[in-house]
Amino acid sequence: YKAKQAHAGHAIYDPAHHGRNAARLSLLTELRQAVEGDELVLYYQPKHAFRSSAMLSVEALVRWVHPKRGFVPPMEFIPFAEQTGYIRAITLWVLERAVRQCAEWRRAGRAVHVGLNLSARDLLHPELPDQFRAMLEHHGCEARWITLEITESAVLDDPRKALATLERLHATGCQLSIDDYGTGYSSLSYLRQMPVQELKIDRSFVMNLTTRPGDELIVRSTIELAHSLGLVVTAEGVETEEILVRLGELGCDLAQGYFVSRPVDAAGLEAWMDHSPWARGDHPSGTEPTN
Ligand code: C2E
Ligand code: MG
Ligand code: MG
Ligand code: MG
Repeated sequence: YKAKQAHAGHAIYDPAHHGRNAARLSLLTELRQAVEGDELVLYYQPKHAFRSSAMLSVEALVRWVHPKRGFVPPMEFIPFAEQTGYIRAITLWVLERAVRQCAEWRRAGRAVHVGLNLSARDLLHPELPDQFRAMLEHHGCEARWITLEITESAVLDDPRKALATLERLHATGCQLSIDDYGTGYSSLSYLRQMPVQELKIDRSFVMNLTTRPGDELIVRSTIELAHSLGLVVTAEGVETEEILVRLGELGCDLAQGYFVSRPVDAAGLEAWMDHSPWARGDHPSGTEPTN
């Protein structure tokens, strides 16, 4: 909200920015319509568990199905929504949908664990934990079926306030995860003060795991350190079988990436659960991914 005002103020003194600000204003209007008119949709990307697990972990990823522009990826509106503060409405929409969908799957006998993304700004809103708790109750979803992902930098903006919100979110009984680990500047010893249970290694380290010895060293030591702190480790961006196998050797717990599955809509995930060998927990060696 403040950022938006700052931009509006800027435009008054610099007419060159007028076009851009008009575009920003119309994007904000469209984004509002998107949330209110249900143009957003959640996709789900399943993870492979190296040790067989009774439940399937997935990450919910938002997409915008724009009436004219079609499929809009999150990187084209999430950063903007963060700047304007409108992310708050989007986060509540995503939370509600993810919680509702998870409860639905559980009622249908599908043991799905849903992770979803929070933004830095979400942690500055003290009402979020109570709103989350109310949604869980409303939809009959247990908190332990949900993981909230936050990036390292989210906590660095205002550590005291962010940490307080994290503590209260964790007190609901959900899991917390550090997303894109390795891209920020925080150390594991710093993260240790946070009530997190999972660490997701950023895909920039995973992509070249088998070709860059330095990256393998980073991934290996991150897994070891994370495990010594009692954290579950997910590797992001697993695109090849070779990388998947190496991650297994390094003791990684979960793998997420196109090699396992691309993000798919809810119906697509159900089909994947029913038909993919991955979903049966089979070791994927020698099997073709279905996506
Ligand atoms: P993220 O949370 O790190 O999500 C993982 C991103 O990596 C997703 O991109 C996913 O589609 C992509 N990905 C998965 N496997 C692979 C792979 O093997 N290779 C490559 N190159 N990419 C892979 P997506 O869906 O475009 O989302 C991008 C980012 O947008 C997310 O990164 C997250 O930071 C943000 N985002 C997505 N949904 C939400 C949301 O509901 N709320 C918020 N606040 N942010 C979201
Ligand atoms: Mg994420
Ligand atoms: Mg990530
Ligand atoms: Mg990422």
